[in-house]
Amino acid sequence: MHCPFCAAQDTKVIDSRLVAEGNQVRRRRECLSCAERYTTYETAELVMPRVIKQNGNREPFDETKLRAGLLRALEKRPVSVEDIEAKINSIKQVLRATGEREVESLVLGELVMETLKTLDQVAYVRFASVYRSFQDIAEFRNEIERLEAEPTTN
Ligand SMILES: [Zn+2]
Repeated sequence: MHCPFCAAQDTKVIDSRLVAEGNQVRRRRECLSCAERYTTYETAELVMPRVIKQNGNREPFDETKLRAGLLRALEKRPVSVEDIEAKINSIKQVLRATGEREVESLVLGELVMETLKTLDQVAYVRFASVYRSFQDIAEFRNEIERLEAEPTTN
């Protein structure tokens, strides 16, 4: 980063140590131009991206809502709570790993559908029928046929 005193580009790290129980790196830097010293702190950003709704509104990622949606689709299906929680964690991990500050709700929806497909195909079709709001019965049938043609991922 640029020196905050003279804006020179070349700075040298003279000391680097973990602080805040290892969650932060504190660096002492020295400017190669003006020899001023300053400190920077580096923290991994692990916040969940915000969700961009189709109308353009931004909402915080809502894990409760995600869980409710999954549970609704999985109602009376032979899937354990542990499996559902594991999938919720993996969805969150994928979202964080994008490194984006915002994701389209469509991206999240597709991610949930992909996840459900590997968990339970009935739940997947339930979710997809609501989410994609199939225009007509033919479209719905196509999706079912496409599913049946796919090799089982379990
Ligand atoms: Zn400087």
